[in-house]
Amino acid sequence: MSSLASLPSVDTILNHPNFAGYKRLLLKKRAQEILSAIRSARPVVVPSLREILAQIEHAYHSMPCTVVPLINATGILIHTNLGRSPISRAIYDRAAELICGYNNVEFELQSGKRGERYVGVARCLREILGCEDCLVVNNNAAALFLILNTFAKEREVIVSRGELIEIGGGFRIPEVMANSGAKLHEVGTTNKTKFADYRNAISAQTAMILKVHRSNYAIEGFTQSVELPELIALARDSQLLDCYDLGGGLLRRAFGAKQKELANLRLEPALDEILPLNPSLVCFSGDKLLGSVQAGIILGKSSLIAQLKANQLLRMLRVDKITLILLEHCLQAYLDEDYGSIPLLAMLQTSLEELHERAQSLKAQIPNGFDAQVCPTTAYIGGGTLPQKGIMSIGIALSHDKLDCESLKDILRTHRIITRIHDSCVLLDMRTLFVHDFEHVSEALKEIAQCNA
Ligand SMILES: *Cc1c(COP(=O)(O)O)cnc(C)c1O
Repeated sequence: MSSLASLPSVDTILNHPNFAGYKRLLLKKRAQEILSAIRSARPVVVPSLREILAQIEHAYHSMPCTVVPLINATGILIHTNLGRSPISRAIYDRAAELICGYNNVEFELQSGKRGERYVGVARCLREILGCEDCLVVNNNAAALFLILNTFAKEREVIVSRGELIEIGGGFRIPEVMANSGAKLHEVGTTNKTKFADYRNAISAQTAMILKVHRSNYAIEGFTQSVELPELIALARDSQLLDCYDLGGGLLRRAFGAKQKELANLRLEPALDEILPLNPSLVCFSGDKLLGSVQAGIILGKSSLIAQLKANQLLRMLRVDKITLILLEHCLQAYLDEDYGSIPLLAMLQTSLEELHERAQSLKAQIPNGFDAQVCPTTAYIGGGTLPQKGIMSIGIALSHDKLDCESLKDILRTHRIITRIHDSCVLLDMRTLFVHDFEHVSEALKEIAQCNA
């Protein structure tokens, strides 16, 4: 029976039990496409219903349109391609109650008048860091852009040549500056910038001295740069503003006694060391070392924050309630000094002994056919932080005698497990693997072992 009249109707397909739980609109479109292709093909060949259903199912799944959860076994904690910093379930659930209903993000309960959207976050940050005020925008790039546009439009900003960085995603300091209307005044050389370079660059055109943390690269060897206290003093004495784009938003005291294993964190600027120096402005990302949502957080003197708030651009850069509420709830964990409830900080602080135990327990679930060795590894903070310096970690070096490591890595990826290769083995780094991921990993490995027995 191969007449076109025997083709099933779209309704038949939509209601077919094979497609229970499928998104109706997508299913309808894929069904129409497949049926219409069959109708227009010459010579006319009508496949069996089973074959048609299989084609539709294949077409449906070949166009995934949703974000899927991934397992990050790369050991790169702030992985920009994997959504940067994860948010804890408990924090998310507390925030969800507010996000899913109406709330007072911009409403003053006492007066019944329109409120200020940043008060909750500002109150937390003031308590945690002792800053005067804060503002939250879309991301750190937007934060810097708003600062430059507000205070340095058509005026000069002095930046060291060694700090004219490019961050992933095409964020380049000179270009951000040009777009903001500020004029870049480069000083020093790539490897050396001296205090006198800054001082000699100051003119009537100067608005600001900008320091940018070299997040994702390092200059080694014959180098010199000027420390923040000197720049703040120079700006103050010259009646200029100083601004520090510090990238990550690390709170040093969150790490307490665990600093030793994390020695390389010393290279990151820390909010609790910078704010006591009384800078005019600092800005950083919400989803890097702070361990929260994507946001650009600006801290600084109240009068300056007020000027930023008065800039029309803020209307375009402002964040949604979801961001503000999640950020505030993450900051509550900082107020509780419950740093372990922030996944990023918990991952950083997990001891090597604990990682070793986890590795042993995962290894015990790895099926025959694989060679699995628990070994010391180096994890990386990532997200444009600390390029060359890793943090100690423990991993499982995985290999399979029928699969080369590139193929194994690719197959694991089809199981939503993202790994990296080290020493001709696929590495499962325990620092970024959650314990609740273990079952998924061992199930995937069992399937791979069966298929390659
Ligand atoms: C990451 C980074 C940025 C960009 O931050 P986003 O939040 O990604 O916009 C800017 N400056 C520095 C120093 C950074 O490390």
